[in-house]
Amino acid sequence: MRLGFLGTGTAIPSATRGASGYVLEAEGDVLLLECGPGSTRRWPAMGLDFARIGAVLCSHHHVDHCGDLAALLFGRNVAPEVHEGLVLAGPTGHGRLIDRLQEAFGDGVRHDDLQVVELDEGGALALAGFAIEARAMAHPRRNADEAPALGFRIERGGRRLAFSGDSGACDALVELCRGVDLALLECSYPAGRESSRHLNAATVAQVARDAGVRRLVLTHIYPEADRVDLESEVRAAGYEGELTIASDGLWLGVE
Ligand SMILES: [Zn+2]
Ligand SMILES: [Zn+2]
Repeated sequence: MRLGFLGTGTAIPSATRGASGYVLEAEGDVLLLECGPGSTRRWPAMGLDFARIGAVLCSHHHVDHCGDLAALLFGRNVAPEVHEGLVLAGPTGHGRLIDRLQEAFGDGVRHDDLQVVELDEGGALALAGFAIEARAMAHPRRNADEAPALGFRIERGGRRLAFSGDSGACDALVELCRGVDLALLECSYPAGRESSRHLNAATVAQVARDAGVRRLVLTHIYPEADRVDLESEVRAAGYEGELTIASDGLWLGVE
């Protein structure tokens, strides 16, 4: 399978990094991971269209990860060709989010063939031919209305990928990353900025070391993390495996 980067940034507008969006592709199957604002704009440059995308999986309901769902549903109405039976998957409350979008935007975002699936801690399902397992991450909710943030382990043809979504350092994230071929982890901040909600260059290195990660890819990079030499900071914190700082438009093989 291969992994493409539609957006490697955050909610802060950046000239070089869009909000969260990734794509997994294998044998013609396409799974979108996150649907942050502006990520649909990047589809054509990455060879994507409505006819190809079979499922969209969101980690949590912060707008930088799901803000383009309404745009996706609206665009699907006027697209010349669509993938029948599009699946929208996300954490508890995903169905309510889609219902509310439909309440707000009306018939323009309704589709008879849409399937909405909710996942919780320990949940597993197959999406567009990819096997997904969900774990609850350390990304505390700001209010009781928010769904818990999930991280995912994704497997296809014996290849395994871990994705943190948004998370601080926690045991569940280390477990998620054990034995995978590629760990796609958020690295919001430089090493000096501590946070329980997000990783920084030092805590991401520690998680990767604890999990024995051999190939680490960093994303969800705030502008302040872009202003430092992230690679040097991750190395200084003791991670010695393969390291990639993701950029918008990049494709990586997961082998
Ligand atoms: Zn978040
Ligand atoms: Zn985020």
